[in-house]
Amino acid sequence: MSAPLSWLPDTVGAAREAEILEEVRLGRHDPIRWATIRVTDRAHVLEVELPEDALKIEGVRVNVTARTAQQIADLLGCVLPTPRLVHLAYLQAAVLIYVGPRTPDATMATTATMIARSRDIDAAIAGRAGLVSQGAWKHWVLHPGATAQRAANWGWMRPDGRPWQVLSLAHNLDHTDYSQAWQCPRRRCRLDGREADLADVLRDPLLAPLVSWDGALLGVRQPGVLLAGQPFAPPAPPTAAPAPPQTWIPARNFTAASRAIADLVVLHSTEGARGRGAARAVARWFGGGAAPQASAHYVVDDDEVIACVAEDDVAWAAPGANRTGIQIELCGSARQSVSEWLAGGLLARAAELTAGICRRHQIPICKLSPEDLAGGARGITGHVDASRAFRKSDHWDPGPSFPWSTFLELVAAARAT
Ligand SMILES: [Zn+2]
Repeated sequence: MSAPLSWLPDTVGAAREAEILEEVRLGRHDPIRWATIRVTDRAHVLEVELPEDALKIEGVRVNVTARTAQQIADLLGCVLPTPRLVHLAYLQAAVLIYVGPRTPDATMATTATMIARSRDIDAAIAGRAGLVSQGAWKHWVLHPGATAQRAANWGWMRPDGRPWQVLSLAHNLDHTDYSQAWQCPRRRCRLDGREADLADVLRDPLLAPLVSWDGALLGVRQPGVLLAGQPFAPPAPPTAAPAPPQTWIPARNFTAASRAIADLVVLHSTEGARGRGAARAVARWFGGGAAPQASAHYVVDDDEVIACVAEDDVAWAAPGANRTGIQIELCGSARQSVSEWLAGGLLARAAELTAGICRRHQIPICKLSPEDLAGGARGITGHVDASRAFRKSDHWDPGPSFPWSTFLELVAAARAT
């Protein structure tokens, strides 16, 4: 048997990173065993899966840059960990090890050192099974201070629970040495017993503290890194029965426009009931004798989609984004939690509807910020973003816990079928 990684360049650099990434793309890394980290607060139970050990190829824990770490995470349906997640993994580890730093020298980042270091860690683990305590390597982590020029690293837990590497933004995206290994949590996680996306949890102001000391994270990727490979497969749509034929209940108030194409899909929440018949009730209100000075193109609940305004006409829903938008009202409340949004068939039904609109109007499947909207970009957005961009309303629907990541993945999946 030849020595491990004999095909890998001995010197650190872009060529070695590319080889490692390609091995992962081809599925030639060692099989990953996943351990479950459990974290609770007064309201929620979150279960996150983390590799038991650092990522190995031919039995060697590979050292990677922040750029490669993010791209491996993309390929394997993961996100970079937060410092809090690394700390939780230390607290819940089955195998406690500590392998300290080497004296810095010119061989810090060679492949020979990578292999030697990995053998030292194997010796410390001594064949024990289960989650390893993070006591031998640092993690590239998600942190609000990371930029396209600076990556954040943290970890290497000492026996007393303090990290050897406190938070540092000293490195660029292309640095690595013997101490940088890959051990990233899966995006697919369980929140209160339901499948959820860790990226949504990290973005959610109410849920993020479960896994983040820095509160909600606006970005859940290392800035400045291109998305690698195939997109993450979204959670199976919850209980979406086949859509019944769309029902048409015309709204009373709208502007006839005969527009050829729309630029935006704008999501709203009705701030009302979401049970059986909820969408019909809203549509009848838009179309009835006591109709408000408002309307939407579609109203969606768990069971059905009701069309109220033709797509080439303009509904009255999001001042500033009416003329160019297609408005979708989701039955529910801007105050509801991620779990509530994920329950029932509403999200999957709305995603299928949105995918059709994006296909018909050639709208890109991306989430627009208020700045994007103000700049005239095309894509998918919320009433809250239109409020911030155009300052013509103060509505904040569909609310801070709307699971945008999951929704966009579902739209992309529906668009592909
Ligand atoms: Zn609204």
